[in-house]
Amino acid sequence: MIYLDHNATTSISPEVVDAMMPYFTSAWGNPSSAYKFGSKLKGAMETARGQVADLVGGQHREIIFTSCGTESNNTAIHAALQSNPVKRHIITSAVEHSSVLSYCRALERDCYRVTYLPVDCDGLLKLADLEKAITNETVVVSLMWANNETGVLFPVKEVAEICRSRGVLYHCDAVQAVGKVEIDVSKVPVDYLSLTGHKFHAPKGIGALYVRRKVPCSPLIYGGHQERKMRGGTENVALIVGLGKAAELAHKNLNDYEEKVLPLRDKLEKGILDSIPNTELNGHKVHRLSNTTNITFREIESEALLFLLDQKGVCASSGSACLADSDGPSHVIMAMKPNSMTGSQTIRFSVGKLNTTSEIDSALSAVTNAVQTLLG
Ligand code: PLP
Repeated sequence: MIYLDHNATTSISPEVVDAMMPYFTSAWGNPSSAYKFGSKLKGAMETARGQVADLVGGQHREIIFTSCGTESNNTAIHAALQSNPVKRHIITSAVEHSSVLSYCRALERDCYRVTYLPVDCDGLLKLADLEKAITNETVVVSLMWANNETGVLFPVKEVAEICRSRGVLYHCDAVQAVGKVEIDVSKVPVDYLSLTGHKFHAPKGIGALYVRRKVPCSPLIYGGHQERKMRGGTENVALIVGLGKAAELAHKNLNDYEEKVLPLRDKLEKGILDSIPNTELNGHKVHRLSNTTNITFREIESEALLFLLDQKGVCASSGSACLADSDGPSHVIMAMKPNSMTGSQTIRFSVGKLNTTSEIDSALSAVTNAVQTLLG
């Protein structure tokens, strides 16, 4: 198998498995219990909280563990709305992940007004559009750090500064950015920031939400006193420890990440664009994640190409894994190129630090052969 779908999910690092193992086998208590067998687990959770905080430049007390990026996104938007129920305007973009867009659409049915900011043909946002969209009714802006389909980076620092100066809360979905680019909430004044473990070599089913100190927060899931009453439910200590370990490793290895993935991504991208006719890059060439390339193969349905690639052991995708079962064209490509008919002719390749040059060579010839087969 040649796995080129790291924006969908990543393998669990062996160090993360090792760190989690005791909490599946011997240390399986409930951290809320009064006796030591349970309560001593709080220490492990707090270590993990510190590791996650360090990864994003925040403070220990500003991290809430959740079950995934989707829950983090929903919690942040919900908390912001609860902070001022009189204001009923939300701003987001047309290219956010479904965990933000679906929630916004549900909120529209609940009498909220949502502005979906457009992007240009490179997937970039215009800050002037954001400035214009903010009104006295706006309570929260939710704009992602890096797009999951194209890797395009939004100008989050400028977005955060605009939101702060206009007195609106800013939530950033940083699920795809964490572990790939530097994130430092002491330099970028976001109010809420979402992350999920399975995008940086922790298991699926564990995420976190950074909430800046003094920023309004209220639970999405009501229950016991866990997570300082901000998220009910007995904590999954093993997964929390795994998230912490993965965060520590991602932090330590951040400087090497781009050095490892960029030459591989560029080799694959150049190989496809130079040798296969009617291909085109989607997304800004420079302002994007170093591991992601999204390419249109004109006249070829992505599903057919992905099927042939799968037969040759190459894993890639046509867009978000969360929407892989829908037949519609990618909402991200449609927002970038509304007049193009190619929304369902795109493939996203996202490389990882464990890929090798020879895998890229094999993937390139698999793509070339599959395209030749499909064009007959
Ligand atoms: N936000 C973005 C940008 C994503 O790419 C994803 C997952 O693909 C999510 C949110 C949702 O994360 P999770 O799968 O942990 O719910």
